[in-house]
Amino acid sequence: MDDALVGAWSRGPDPASPGGLLQEAELCRREVSGLLGELVRTPSLSTGEAEVAETLRQAMGSLDFDEVTVDPLGCVVGRIGDGPVRIVYDSHVDTVDVGSRAEWARDPFEPTVLPDAGGGVLHGRGASDDKGGMAAMVHGAGMYRRLGPDPRVTLYVVGSVQEEACDGLALEHLLTRVLPRPDLVVLGEATRCQVFRGNRGRIEVLVRLAGSSCHASAPERGRNPVYAIAPIVDAVRRLDRRLPTTELLGRGSVALTRIECETGGLNSVPSTASIYLDRRLTEGEDPDAALAELRDLPEVRAAGANVELLTYEATSWTGTQVRQEKRFATWATPADHVGVRAGLATGEQALGRRPELGHWVFSTNGVASMGKLGIPTIGFGPGDEVHAHSAHDQCPIDDLVEAVAWYAGFPGRFADTLAGDAAAGRDAAAGRGEEGKGGPG
Ligand SMILES: [Zn+2]
Repeated sequence: MDDALVGAWSRGPDPASPGGLLQEAELCRREVSGLLGELVRTPSLSTGEAEVAETLRQAMGSLDFDEVTVDPLGCVVGRIGDGPVRIVYDSHVDTVDVGSRAEWARDPFEPTVLPDAGGGVLHGRGASDDKGGMAAMVHGAGMYRRLGPDPRVTLYVVGSVQEEACDGLALEHLLTRVLPRPDLVVLGEATRCQVFRGNRGRIEVLVRLAGSSCHASAPERGRNPVYAIAPIVDAVRRLDRRLPTTELLGRGSVALTRIECETGGLNSVPSTASIYLDRRLTEGEDPDAALAELRDLPEVRAAGANVELLTYEATSWTGTQVRQEKRFATWATPADHVGVRAGLATGEQALGRRPELGHWVFSTNGVASMGKLGIPTIGFGPGDEVHAHSAHDQCPIDDLVEAVAWYAGFPGRFADTLAGDAAAGRDAAAGRGEEGKGGPG
């Protein structure tokens, strides 16, 4: 009996055989769904992630990560290996609030597995966004370590904070001030276990108009800013209808998300009126141009309204103050990028099927990694983004198991694909050298 056979025998399924990683991942079905349940059971609004960070830290520790640290903003960072190829797996551990409890069929913080045709579906706040991805990344990395990590790779698994409040902020801090620059970032946001490679950018904008307050019994004495802002509301709606559509990321859009006024009371004409806008930016659109476009609307100019970019300010659970303008860059990693190709190949190897290529409708931490820093970024995650932020927040357990297999298989496949490209590049360069001899410089 040769050594390879002994190894395969002692481990059960052979991870190198087709579907072997998926069989191996099946062995931790209970653990990965258990960790997701634990994460769901621990409420973690943005800046309130201390407890969930501790849960995560312990989970990484018990799976024998080489090192587990917490960065100044409160992100948990686990490391496996110390090779020259650096990969960051990132999922965020914060969630949005539950909204009206009346909308929920059951307690959002009491994870419930409901049966379905497959392996059951876990319901609870954060299951689809992004705690499912987090649980699967931790166990996928744990399995990767157990099977023998690739000596060419350093794998970081990050549980990032404050994504829901300010996408990209914590990951940008981590990638620029804490970790060495990685070769690739993989986001665990829900992709239905397909490979995603971009999302629209966005800006958050306040349009504010001053009026002149007076007693409501004689409105002609003042100037009601709500009436004056009404044409701007209409102009915003018309702007939304004419924004461009592109092939990969779809349509640019603008939504009015809040309207308010300052008033002395219900018998006063208000003194100011404000609207808040969420403007999504597709390929080719940029935050500054989108802001200028709003300022240049004839209705905005005519009313003399003030248009400003909003700023996010908060104190992280570790006490660190953060501040950032709410401008988030559009991003897309090219379809032929080595990370995308490795992602598809990992699907074929680990899951026995070629994943589809797609993009998110919502925004992710990729606005920082690829959008701002130019670090190639892809996504692979369990669950479907259609359930994110809803009272039907859920993640299929079968997706968790598939994601574990993919996360375990990806680092080696990425290093292989990089090495293959380098060899091909050397061949191509050698070929060019021959042909180019004596040609124009
Ligand atoms: Zn998310």
